[in-house]
Amino acid sequence: MYTLIDGKKTSAEIREEIRREVAEIRRQGGKAPHLAAILVGHDGASETYVAAKEKACREVGFDSTVIRLEEDVTQEELLDHVRHINEDPAVDGLIVQLPLPAHLDEQQVIETIRPEKDVDGFHPVNVGRMTIGLPAFISATPAGILELLRRYKVETGGKHCVVIGRSNIVGKPVSILLSRKEEPGNCTVTLCHSRTHDLTAFTRQADIIIAALGKARFLTGEMVKEGVTVIDVGITRVRSDKTRSGWKLYGDVDFETVAPKSRFITPVPGGVGPMTIVSLLRNTLLSAQKVIYP
Ligand code: NAP
Repeated sequence: MYTLIDGKKTSAEIREEIRREVAEIRRQGGKAPHLAAILVGHDGASETYVAAKEKACREVGFDSTVIRLEEDVTQEELLDHVRHINEDPAVDGLIVQLPLPAHLDEQQVIETIRPEKDVDGFHPVNVGRMTIGLPAFISATPAGILELLRRYKVETGGKHCVVIGRSNIVGKPVSILLSRKEEPGNCTVTLCHSRTHDLTAFTRQADIIIAALGKARFLTGEMVKEGVTVIDVGITRVRSDKTRSGWKLYGDVDFETVAPKSRFITPVPGGVGPMTIVSLLRNTLLSAQKVIYP
């Protein structure tokens, strides 16, 4: 019988913990953490993500600011906004909602955010510090995965973890974090991708599988061994005539065939997804408390 790793419940608990910490900071006369977001253009998904982040800030008592810039903003104008927020002592964390319109240089924008305010953890300084085990802002999805493993007391030390997908925002950082000399961590990690030959030979050996490739129901029961722990990061929207919206969300894991062989497994939706915003809130709180960069 498997244990369902409930990201919705866990994220609600963490939100409540953060809300209490903020209330305590305020009670002692301190200032609430402040998250600023830059949103360029009117992409529907980006608008939704930023609105969700604003709402989450309100719920835990953070201050938040959203800077909305037109689709045709120039690189220099955008960088000026970033530099301005970098220098604003009232703001603890800054995120620039990605993706940016094609004429803008995302990497330059990321590298202009001061690492001390980079609560998305995308700046190369934070990525580098994470890699060598120094305090760093860890990006939201990998941090959320780690927190789920921690809270569900999934044993990771000495286990073989197979990560499928090597993106800079999920696969690569999670593979580094799980190989670090700490808990959760101390795994033997195999990082697989689209050029991996005979992926099933790896997944069948895995004690832990992190599926982050973005292919609906890719990992099936015959690809895993009994007792495996499965973290499903994928989110793919598939047309459906069974839902009111006309869409259904699928993870990278075929839950029906994989769950019966699993020890722990995350659902989609309600697994890793809800953890990302709380990880961002946690980073903003850490920034306000000057924990990472004293
Ligand atoms: P991505 O940039 O889309 O890259 C996908 C990765 O999977 C690549 O490394 C690719 O290999 C690999 N891959 C593709 N097909 C494969 C196959 N058949 N076998 C093995 N590897 C394969 O990845 P991402 O941005 O990390 O997103 C992955 C999924 O996670 C998406 O569904 C995304 O929506 C979801 N996601 C969810 C959250 C959340 O909060 N839950 C957050 C971020 C992303 P190559 O490198 O060789 O191309």
